Amino acid sequence: MSSSALSSTTPLIVEAVEVHKSFGPLDVLKGINLTVRKGEVVCLLGPSGSGKSTFLRCINHLERMTSGRILVDGQLIGYHQHAGVLHEMSGKELALQRRDIGMVFQRFNLFAHQDVLTNISQAPILNRGKTRDEARARARELLKMVDLEGREQSYPYQLSGGQQQRVAIARALAMDPKLMLFDEPTSALDPELVGEVLAVMRKLASGGMTMIVVTHELSFAREVADRVMFMDQGVVVEEGPAREVLDNPRQERTQAFLRRMH
Ligand code: ADP
Ligand code: MG
Repeated sequence: MSSSALSSTTPLIVEAVEVHKSFGPLDVLKGINLTVRKGEVVCLLGPSGSGKSTFLRCINHLERMTSGRILVDGQLIGYHQHAGVLHEMSGKELALQRRDIGMVFQRFNLFAHQDVLTNISQAPILNRGKTRDEARARARELLKMVDLEGREQSYPYQLSGGQQQRVAIARALAMDPKLMLFDEPTSALDPELVGEVLAVMRKLASGGMTMIVVTHELSFAREVADRVMFMDQGVVVEEGPAREVLDNPRQERTQAFLRRMH
């Protein structure tokens, strides 16, 4: 979606407010704020160690924030609030929330002992109440979408990294998520396989999926992202429309980072 198509009436899918996270004495996130509206694509850039993965993991409560709050589609993530006090959700409740948030990692994390169709269709059967036939029919559609028609019976070891990552994306989509989080989805791939994964992500974005993407692929960010957020040392240094931030960064730290990337 282009930024101009967004208005203040477009629903907010992510509202992260003053997110802090520390590991012991190490302050990794120092008050991150981010709002993402339905259909928006936000690319998160920043040097290694700046807290990008930690922030993504806070969004689905894989990591417990130290303070702050995150809402996804209006629901507080990880906690119930009673009389102003936050109580952490049970594992079961967390699992229900996470069904709506797809996540794709640098390492594809497919189930090695299952074929592609089973990898994609299993969670919707177990956690969305779909019948086996429904889930497998949907998995076939998704395989077509990620350009892997005909690979239903393959096992992960029979696929290239790029193909495995496309299966991982299809698997996440099979749960009909409201939001997709990508953590450096192409960083573990051989360079010649990066394009096929980005092509699928581009397709998803133009289909209206709401996405937060941690990436070092600047041309992808420039073309596909509505907004770019640049983080360094646990703070948001600069945020704005993708082209503005990438072509005309205002902050010295953003400029230095982008120079190093070219
Ligand atoms: P990025 O994804 O931007 O490279 P990360 O979010 O992975 O950064 O890490 C940010 C900082 O938090 C790093 O200094 C990292 O070592 C530290 N960190 C991440 N996870 C843990 C953990 N579980 N325990 C201790 N330190 C961690
Ligand atoms: Mg990371």
